[in-house]
Amino acid sequence: MQYILALDQGTTSSRAILFDAQGRSVKTAQKEFRQIFPQPGWVEHDANEIWNTQRQVIEQVVGLPDTAALVNQIAGIAITNQRETTVLWDRLTGEPLANAIVWQDRRTADLCDTMRTQGHTALLQQKTGLVLDAYFSATKLAWLLDQIPGARARAERGELAFGTIDTWLLWKLTAGKVHATDPSNASRTLLFNVHTLQWDDELLALFKIPRAVLPEVRPSGGVFGETDPSLFGRAVSIAAMIGDQQAATFGQACFSPGMAKNTYGTGCFMLLNTGSTPVESANRLLTTVGWQRAATPRGTPDTTYCLEASVFMGGATIQWLRDGLNIIQTAVEVESLAQSVPDVGDTYLVPAFTGLGAPHWDGHARGTLVGMTRGTTKAHIARAALEAIALQVADVFTAMQKDSGIMLAELRVDGGASKNNLLMQIQADFLGIPVVRPAVTETTALGAAYLAGLTVGFWSNTEQISSQWVIDQRFEPRLTDTARQTKLARWHQAVERAKDWAQD
Ligand code: ADP
Repeated sequence: MQYILALDQGTTSSRAILFDAQGRSVKTAQKEFRQIFPQPGWVEHDANEIWNTQRQVIEQVVGLPDTAALVNQIAGIAITNQRETTVLWDRLTGEPLANAIVWQDRRTADLCDTMRTQGHTALLQQKTGLVLDAYFSATKLAWLLDQIPGARARAERGELAFGTIDTWLLWKLTAGKVHATDPSNASRTLLFNVHTLQWDDELLALFKIPRAVLPEVRPSGGVFGETDPSLFGRAVSIAAMIGDQQAATFGQACFSPGMAKNTYGTGCFMLLNTGSTPVESANRLLTTVGWQRAATPRGTPDTTYCLEASVFMGGATIQWLRDGLNIIQTAVEVESLAQSVPDVGDTYLVPAFTGLGAPHWDGHARGTLVGMTRGTTKAHIARAALEAIALQVADVFTAMQKDSGIMLAELRVDGGASKNNLLMQIQADFLGIPVVRPAVTETTALGAAYLAGLTVGFWSNTEQISSQWVIDQRFEPRLTDTARQTKLARWHQAVERAKDWAQD
């Protein structure tokens, strides 16, 4: 056996990647699928299209129709996925009852507002580690059960199945034999108690979700079932399922408490390993299951928790420079433009285009550019945009240290914008700790592959994986503590000016 096959089912594309024993990706295929916007604020995917694109990229990678040689070399399959996206299907036919409601979809925001005024926030945070928001699956599933005629009664009779994308792909891969999820995905639904690690009856009653619709929760690193032989001519074990951000944390080898990673994509996602106990946040960060590994013959399943924070406008700030302001043609150009000036000249961009998330939480905040003089140029604005990404990350980093009581020694980074050396240097300066970029930044698929490989004995332990994690570049902080504090204080003044602006 030479490979692990990782399926990386993302928000805009399905990917399949074959990893070898050194953790190198040897073959990749990717296919985009449709984003469906039926109304403002609504975002849907066709679950069948997700499955079809996923199957096509698997076929490309294993080389159908002549698969035998390669399929026989695959030790196990790993699934990692866009989280929270909600599918409801008929158990008998395997057909979805409606399009999947995507994590970005805001149609249930009013329902969340109502539930908030009814005072459910504290209970939900205590049990699930989450904030009450349309982002998570529970209100999306409740909406489907309410809106599709007869759906709730059918769900109660056990005729329907709910799943996030991991569960949907598993069902399809096993030809309907296995209906299961893992704790990293379950802990994004608002229905899962992160302390008992089970679906919670009180929460199910609150959202009016019949228990019969839910998948079984099994360890993230464990055998979920085998692919139906009709797919690749041979049954292959599905040996891991894990949500994308948690997978990236695993792929960054953040195996010990106090290790953290930040992904710089469209938004930024920071996850901190807090070990075997869930840490409740006082700053409205999320408490989430990182991963659970199946019981060894010697012990019980082993659960690792994380604190998670997101910044809405990460790389998207650079997209705005490109598409909104047209001051760069490609995202890469921002680095040389920003480098052409020595500093921002006391200019601050607060990219609160869609409000501010943790730790400020102001939905009415809007984008602000302050401190401009006659001498301000597009280069200063480009530099302020890079600083804004790093300053927002510094704010969630501070909140995370406060909540966990853990002082981080370094931050591991990945994602498209982590290739920007200037951004990474600025980040180290504003955090006051080193920022470390690994050679492999495909951490999401790799993390899922590692988890599956550990399950089937392709890798023997996490030490072996840690030794494969190789540094590309390390960025050391260069600012004094005083200079850093002054910078952050000035930024917070700018953030205050962005707050409470929108009147809707
Ligand atoms: P996602 O997975 O969210 O689509 P990626 O990890 O592919 O995101 O990263 C793409 C994002 O990174 C885009 O928002 C883009 O503007 C930004 N980006 C890409 N390259 C750079 C760069 N060199 N400097 C700054 N931002 C960049």
